[in-house]
Amino acid sequence: MGKILDGRIIAAGIKEEISSFIKDRKEKNLQIPKIASILVGNDGGSIYYQNAQEKVALSLGVNFDKILLEENITEDFLIARINELNLDTEVQGIILQLPLPKHINEKRVTSVIDPDKDIDCLTNESMGRFYKGEKCFLPCTPNSVITLLRSLNMNLRGKNAVVIGRSDIVGKPVFQLLLSEDMTVTVCHSKTENLKEIAKTADVLVVAIGRPNFVDKDFVKKGAIVIDVGTSSFNGKITGDVKFDDVIEIAEYVTPVPGGVGALTTTLLIKNACEALE
Ligand code: NAP
Repeated sequence: MGKILDGRIIAAGIKEEISSFIKDRKEKNLQIPKIASILVGNDGGSIYYQNAQEKVALSLGVNFDKILLEENITEDFLIARINELNLDTEVQGIILQLPLPKHINEKRVTSVIDPDKDIDCLTNESMGRFYKGEKCFLPCTPNSVITLLRSLNMNLRGKNAVVIGRSDIVGKPVFQLLLSEDMTVTVCHSKTENLKEIAKTADVLVVAIGRPNFVDKDFVKKGAIVIDVGTSSFNGKITGDVKFDDVIEIAEYVTPVPGGVGALTTTLLIKNACEALE
């Protein structure tokens, strides 16, 4: 029987570091980081994430400016607002909640964020730095995957990793981070043939497809580490892509949903804002 790889425990350790960083700055009368989070319209998921970010930030003593804009604002208005935040020396991190309303060009708008304040790695410049291995803020969900793996203190160099999912926000950056750990990485997607056989070669299996309970133990090699990024609403509950009870019978570690990858992402976002200040 495998063990639970619990994101909440790791998040608690990082939160302690952030709290003591803020306490230290307050004692020395130094500037405290401030995050500006923009939400355009009423997307339910975005409202949930923005509220969660605000709660965690404030609980750690980080300033949080929640900017709520009407659904029907123009693209130029939003760009002007981001430019104001770029110039605001009080603000270290800018988060733009996605998706944006359909009449706004997401690529054009995200490209306006100052890369030095781009704490969720949304701009082309940040992504370019990320894929070239240059200094940048790591995108938070992929960073959460790699932080969970590193917490195990195992030597994974040269081991096989399989990522199921190739989205720009999860699958591809996870591939890049695993590769930078010197793992041998295979990326699978909806057109992959023999998915189960490939998944079964993985010492580390990362699943990010958005299909509840899709991966059962037939996909998993004995002793593998399984990281479940999926968060779908299923029978009224947040559910991962991995059939946890089944897979934990043969894996060495499995992340739960909730309480795995998602439990760490907001904390890592706030950590990025602290680093932006430094
Ligand atoms: P996405 O953009 O919809 O991408 C899904 C990927 O999965 C695609 O590459 C797709 O392949 C692949 N896929 C779909 N069905 C498949 C199948 N049957 N077999 C193999 N591959 C399949 O989703 P995403 O944004 O990457 O998100 C993935 C999941 O992670 C979602 O549940 C999302 O809610 C969750 N998520 C969680 C967090 C967090 O912090 N916990 C953050 C972001 C996302 P094709 O490319 O061929 O279509």
